[in-house]
Amino acid sequence: MCGIIGVYGNEGSVKETILLGLISIQHRGQDACGIATFSQRMHLEKGLGLVGQFLTPGRLKNLHGNVGIGHVRYPTIGKGAPEDAQPFCLLAPRGIAIAHNGNVINYKELRKKLSKKVKFKSKCDIEVILYTLAEELKKADRLNPQTIFRSVERIFNLVCGSYSVVSVIEGAGLLAFRDPYGIKPLVFGMKDNSYMFASESVALEVLGYKMVRDVAPGEAILITKGGKFLSKTIVKGNLHPCIFEWVYFARPDSVIDNISVYEARLRLGKSLAKEIKKTKTKADVVIPIPDTARASALSVAQQLSVKYREGLIKNRYIGRTFIMPEDDERKRKVRSKLNPIRSEINNRKVLLIDDSIVRGNTSREIINLVRNAGAKEVYFASSSPPLKYPCVYGIDMQTRSEFIARGKKIEDVEKEIGADRLVYQTLEGLINSIGRDRNFCTACFNGVYPTKVSKETFRIIEKERRSRH
Ligand code: SF4
Repeated sequence: MCGIIGVYGNEGSVKETILLGLISIQHRGQDACGIATFSQRMHLEKGLGLVGQFLTPGRLKNLHGNVGIGHVRYPTIGKGAPEDAQPFCLLAPRGIAIAHNGNVINYKELRKKLSKKVKFKSKCDIEVILYTLAEELKKADRLNPQTIFRSVERIFNLVCGSYSVVSVIEGAGLLAFRDPYGIKPLVFGMKDNSYMFASESVALEVLGYKMVRDVAPGEAILITKGGKFLSKTIVKGNLHPCIFEWVYFARPDSVIDNISVYEARLRLGKSLAKEIKKTKTKADVVIPIPDTARASALSVAQQLSVKYREGLIKNRYIGRTFIMPEDDERKRKVRSKLNPIRSEINNRKVLLIDDSIVRGNTSREIINLVRNAGAKEVYFASSSPPLKYPCVYGIDMQTRSEFIARGKKIEDVEKEIGADRLVYQTLEGLINSIGRDRNFCTACFNGVYPTKVSKETFRIIEKERRSRH
């Protein structure tokens, strides 16, 4: 999971708009960030750290131009090294800046082929998209919208996986496209005659852009250097967005593929309450594990007619635990991130609501914390079903052995995390809560992947993942 922004400004500089856009989607990646703009030539600033830490006024002053892109990174392929930070830029034969959210699953194969012609600078999978685009543009006699759309078609034919992409092409303008399955989100909006693309609608809203729509799967949009809007359906897409966006990743104030994240979380809570009722669990208080589970927990409390309380307080200055790259770091940070309000917990049967259980160590730590704060019993409910299969599309949970629920009964997981009762959402409940009339990627729950994934791909991705631990 990463976050991307692309801005074509009708007049003036776009760097501040991109900066504020990146801050609004900082939750999508806290490891590295960067901005590339174009005016006469490409200007680039990227490096490790949060947007506010790295993109200082001193660095921003180097970014000129009315068109540009930005990125916040959460590392999947690549070790999270500075050279893997995005955007990536090519200066010749034509300036191209590019950034993506996603994961190219045939990266190794494409890299091998392209290495005969170009020199790779990193292990970041965006480079294979960059060089495919550059090679195709090089073959074209002239640079025009047709040649650009043909180049995107070539990318769709060659590159397998999930990718939402924004790119600035010298002499052409701002290009954005979404893979034929639309696994990763990408929306765009307008303000006067300026355009903005973003991973989440919240970025458009906070900057006063009117949301136009989601970029369709298999669609490419070009805002020409003169500000003309051109769109082409390159291939007929088959939308399968990542269902985890609504469960966990996205901000609750975002709307993705026309589904409000907040409303979806309320529905998840309603559905989860049905499962809790079946177990005859009688809690005195419902407490969300902040922040993502709040809406679902509120809904659970309403359905069960049990009081809702904020019994765990989050330190806002510590990053999201799930997207921290190393597991040890994740454990340590749970404790410094959450602190209980004893008066809401002491001597009560507490029902904790979380969005998901991946490895189980975070859940175990939190249950301990609540017990130590005096809870009589601690029940735990997950608003998503058991996670069992690796994500090959860019989420950091790619090794099968990492899933606490894989190959185990619910009672075994319950015991391992130390809960007095564990309740999961059903897959049907999850899908119906988000949108029953849609196709989603639900691969991490049921092993059904929207794209082709070979055994070799699983092997490579798991090896890559293990090497980082
Ligand atoms: S496998 Fe899971 S996390 Fe990965 S894209 Fe699909 S739904 Fe999202």
